[in-house]
Amino acid sequence: MNNKVTIDSYKDIAPAGTIDLIYNLAGRLQGKSFLHVNSTRYGGGVAEMLHRLLPMFNDLGINARWEVMEGTPLFYQTTKNFHNALQGLPSEISSEMYDEYIKVNRKNAKKISFAADFAVIHDPQPAALIYKKPKHVPWLWRCHIDISRPQRKVWNFLKEYVLQYKGTIFSLPSFSQKLSIPQFLMYPSIDPLSDKNRDLTDKEIDDVLSQHNLPRDKPIMLQVSRFDRFKDPLGVIEAYKLVKKYNDCSLVLAGGGAADDPEGIEVLRQVKEEASHDKDIFIFDLPPDANITINALQRAATVIIQKSTKEGFGLTVAEAMWKGKPVIGGAVGGIAVQIIYGRTGYTVNSVEGCAYRARHLLNNPDSLLKMGQDAREYTRHNFLITRHICDYLSLMVYMLGV
Ligand code: UDP
Repeated sequence: MNNKVTIDSYKDIAPAGTIDLIYNLAGRLQGKSFLHVNSTRYGGGVAEMLHRLLPMFNDLGINARWEVMEGTPLFYQTTKNFHNALQGLPSEISSEMYDEYIKVNRKNAKKISFAADFAVIHDPQPAALIYKKPKHVPWLWRCHIDISRPQRKVWNFLKEYVLQYKGTIFSLPSFSQKLSIPQFLMYPSIDPLSDKNRDLTDKEIDDVLSQHNLPRDKPIMLQVSRFDRFKDPLGVIEAYKLVKKYNDCSLVLAGGGAADDPEGIEVLRQVKEEASHDKDIFIFDLPPDANITINALQRAATVIIQKSTKEGFGLTVAEAMWKGKPVIGGAVGGIAVQIIYGRTGYTVNSVEGCAYRARHLLNNPDSLLKMGQDAREYTRHNFLITRHICDYLSLMVYMLGV
């Protein structure tokens, strides 16, 4: 963590009363241990949040640990196909792949230490570790993806494991499923004091832009995202091309691969090909620790896009809104909750809609500014790490009965 960030550091940032509530709840959980398990330490929103949440729990006297499972190329291909299928895309999963999923979970079960008073297992990859759950320890399965219309076969397979948990956590009510166990709702969050979101000086922003040879002579449209089909980077390029007919601007697509996403390389190749004839399109394939770069790009951009076609919850949307930027986002999943249409941004359903709203914002700097201010306040009240900590602590208090 940069400098020493403690819960008190958020006193002037979080809505009034939040920090007192956190201390109150944490007081009931002193010395308890809290385990998180996922499948990647870097890349994607889950890792992003765990990096920030864990030190906060420890600061509050809760022994928080994070274990990352290890897979094989076939395992990651399998869980990527699970991911696609659960988000509704047709996806082939062979019996060899199902076997690999089980085998890798069993292997990891032998290596990971599960000692904890409470555990949250994130996403489908480690879901099958559930057989290691000690009898009286509550484990919850947290699903970060849009599972509202899953491919039945894959969901039925996974559900066998999910039903063995004490409960589930989904990011939106519409993602909940017919299950006989409790289902909790928790929005993800961003950390306003991380390098990804903290205030930057003008010099810091300028340095990043010049390091990347990104001129500031025209407005910048930006999408920050892993190179993933569900993020629709090719649709963003199409929208930019429509905008460009009328408004001189540049487009930045900044992203990287997550360690558990084998498809990213191919998507990036297509994006580069599509962008190759336009000198105003900048494709940045970023390393996992490019936090200040992303922060600076979000601050330098005029119009921020998140044109996902499926999205559990767009951390990038909250990051942009916190920086006082309205966001144009695909009208899907969490984005539809994060963006209040016409107030904190616009949700769109097509390339044309995206281009239309981008042009509207480029042509109306006053409304861009006002919407950006509202976006920041909305984020303060709903999507900051302090709210997320409150949610987790409340859940622990409830599940442990303390
Ligand atoms: N991110 C990053 N580098 C990249 C692309 C994304 O650090 O190259 C970050 C991004 O800023 C955000 C998170 O990864 O914090 C992505 O979370 P989101 O919920 O938007 O999407 P996910 O990747 O989890 O589907």
